[in-house]
Amino acid sequence: MMIPIMNDHPIHLPGSGGGCPPERLLVVCDFDGTVCSVDMGNAFLERFAEGWEEIDRSYSAGKVGSRVAYSRIAPLFRANRSQVLDFVLRRERLDPFFPEFLSFCRKRKIDLKIVSDGLDVYIEAILRKYGLDVEFYSNRLLFQEDDRIDFAFPLVSEECGRCGTCKRSLLDHFRSDYDRIIYIGDSYSDVCPARAANRVFAKPILHEKCMKNGTPSLLYNDFGDIRRCLEKDFPDGFAKPAGEEAS
Ligand SMILES: [Mg+2]
Ligand SMILES: [Zn+2]
Repeated sequence: MMIPIMNDHPIHLPGSGGGCPPERLLVVCDFDGTVCSVDMGNAFLERFAEGWEEIDRSYSAGKVGSRVAYSRIAPLFRANRSQVLDFVLRRERLDPFFPEFLSFCRKRKIDLKIVSDGLDVYIEAILRKYGLDVEFYSNRLLFQEDDRIDFAFPLVSEECGRCGTCKRSLLDHFRSDYDRIIYIGDSYSDVCPARAANRVFAKPILHEKCMKNGTPSLLYNDFGDIRRCLEKDFPDGFAKPAGEEAS
């Protein structure tokens, strides 16, 4: 069920003109628990990094950032690429409405990017499984000899210093290219980027955190809810999908 509590002004479709310059819109999505309905990162570490729970508890309690947590988990991790891919493809649950949401955005010339403090190996595998070509930003898992791995953090932010991939810094970085940013997420790591977005769609944990810190957000279940909500901002006759303009 959607709880509309946000009083943001309506979004103007890019190219819908009427003399106004088209608005450049970006949708930024979290991956674990958002694009993928299950938290693949957690399932994955639970399966392959024995003893990670203790480290996860320190992370969830805010005692360490995700970059330190990953660095501590790396020595515990044992698996090769094919074991990892086999597990991921069996356990993943893509939000069933995500592919349709992606094409909705593309038709309306709304850019969509995924930002994740999870790992490239499963994000890439899941997107490829569904034939979805989406730009994503995440940490990297590097397979080494003897089923060992390393994690790499190419998107670490010096300002933040806590996250492996700092979603907030990415959002700030995207900001210069867009007029409005819509953020979609589910949990703790989305609290900080949500505060920097113009509109937020949140699952229960994030929604509650947003209410506490005064960030307006809309509760949602799946990408079908979000599409229906955005469609209201694109009423017929005002906004026509790309390729359907009158010739
Ligand atoms: Mg998440
Ligand atoms: Zn950060």
